[in-house]
Amino acid sequence: MKVMLRKVTSTPLDFEVKFNEITFKGYLEYYKGKLILLKANIVGPLVTECDICADEFIMKLDENVEFFISDGIYEDDNSISLDVVESLDGNIDIDELLNSEIELIKSDYHSCESCK
Ligand SMILES: [Zn+2]
Repeated sequence: MKVMLRKVTSTPLDFEVKFNEITFKGYLEYYKGKLILLKANIVGPLVTECDICADEFIMKLDENVEFFISDGIYEDDNSISLDVVESLDGNIDIDELLNSEIELIKSDYHSCESCK
C-alpha cells in the first residue's frame, strides 16, 4: 500500500496492511513542516530464532510504533523526540515500513520459552 504524502492532512488517514499473519494497523496524520506522524500497532505471530539454542519459535508481537515520515530530506532542528524516516519520492510504502519494522524486531535479542 503506497500513500502519497502530500495527500495526508490533519485528518488521520487510517491504514491496515498484512504480512503473513502479522497486521500493521494505524494512521498517518500531518504534523508540521515536512513531517507526517505515523502511529500504529503491530500484532501477530512472528517466527524467529532463539539467540541461545537457535531453535525457531513463535513470538507473539504486540508493539506500538510511532515515528515521523519526512516528505524530503529532514533537517534536524532538535524539536522532535521521535525517529524520522525520510521519503525522497513523495510516497511512503506501508508494506515496506512493516517489513523494516519486522526486521528491526528480529534483530533484537530473543530467547524461546525453554531458554528463559
Ligand atoms: Zn532457546
